[in-house]
Amino acid sequence: MQTVYTFGRYFKSKFKCKVGKLPIGLSGFTCPNIDGTVAKGGCTFCLNESFSPNLAKSSKPILNLKSLTNPLLEKQLQELDEQIKKTTKLMKKQGYKKFLVYFQAFTNTYAPFETLKTLYDKALSYPDVIGLSIGTRSDSVTDEVYDYLAMLSKTKEIWIEFGVQSIHDKTLVRINRGHDAANAKSGVQKAKAKGLNVCCHLIYGLPDESEEMMMQTTSEVYSWGIDAIKYHPLYVVKNTLLANEYKAGKFTPIDEDSYAKILTKALLAKPSHIIVQRISAGIDDDTLLAPSWCGWKKNKMIDYLRKKLKKSSILL
Ligand code: SF4
Repeated sequence: MQTVYTFGRYFKSKFKCKVGKLPIGLSGFTCPNIDGTVAKGGCTFCLNESFSPNLAKSSKPILNLKSLTNPLLEKQLQELDEQIKKTTKLMKKQGYKKFLVYFQAFTNTYAPFETLKTLYDKALSYPDVIGLSIGTRSDSVTDEVYDYLAMLSKTKEIWIEFGVQSIHDKTLVRINRGHDAANAKSGVQKAKAKGLNVCCHLIYGLPDESEEMMMQTTSEVYSWGIDAIKYHPLYVVKNTLLANEYKAGKFTPIDEDSYAKILTKALLAKPSHIIVQRISAGIDDDTLLAPSWCGWKKNKMIDYLRKKLKKSSILL
């Protein structure tokens, strides 16, 4: 039996306690793939509100790398404080003792350096916070930010998360990703050269991708020297470009059996040192259009996948 090297197991052995990721979404942030810098409209599946529950409702996207001032900084610091305190309280009741502040919504290096430095420093100032995880794009991290994160990583647990999704450029164009696979690979290599912990996100069930293509992506990304991985099924939420494709019959979502099958293959092929941060994703509200299994409660989905994995001697 092969036991999956989960983030929980990694933390337990390193910090001897339960460490949780604390998701943050702040006003003012956006993404170069949404604001027209790289492309407009964003990835076809993207609706940040659907995968970042803490995203401030009053969010007005105003920041980018060239912003000279940030009139929202005070508001962002206040939101950060509120979200950290609120979520810490909830997670402590679930037994978590230490936290990694996870800048999750949009592109969290896409703002002036001073803003990022202030927000990262503030997040690290809370007593039970042991580090940061910064969700971003491989085309949106400046050398200044890499260097600052590298400096922080000498005393803190610092992770950077890149959405890779696929190594097939045809697919990346189809989902309007705004960068190619070579860019994702060079971002990973740069972050590794700076000594950062790197987590890559993959999506299974992207339009027109076969199982073989998904496994090509998986094996290739495993070979980039990454430290952790997140696997996701592609699901369709309302008010996205993908929703239009789905309604027009141009996209068929992955079913649960096919997802379990590719996940099993991916885990069997995974080098043992790569940590698994996530094995699936979903959304339990009425913004989900399809597939319906992505609307299952988290426990039901994990139980389902656990049983499927067990048949291949993989212990979650
Ligand atoms: S890179 Fe992330 S935030 Fe930007 S459009 Fe794509 S999914 Fe959305």
